[in-house]
Amino acid sequence: MEQFTCVKCNGPMVKGFVADHGNKSAIFKTLWFDGDAEQASIWGIQGDNISVDRSKQRVIRGIRCKQCGYLELYAV
Ligand SMILES: [Zn+2]
Repeated sequence: MEQFTCVKCNGPMVKGFVADHGNKSAIFKTLWFDGDAEQASIWGIQGDNISVDRSKQRVIRGIRCKQCGYLELYAV
């Protein structure tokens, strides 16, 4: 198992990911998309949601320092 060391304080780091809760019953992995967000519309009506190109999505993963909380995030 790989060991990661914090670049800020030399503390031990653990792997993890950023979660998003879209509503009260579900938790999702947070995704990264290159470029700007485009407002989605249905029949010309715009809501709060955005339109995305799923072929460009990447899951955000990272490592967190157990000692100081420093995060390193990667979109892979
Ligand atoms: Zn640290």
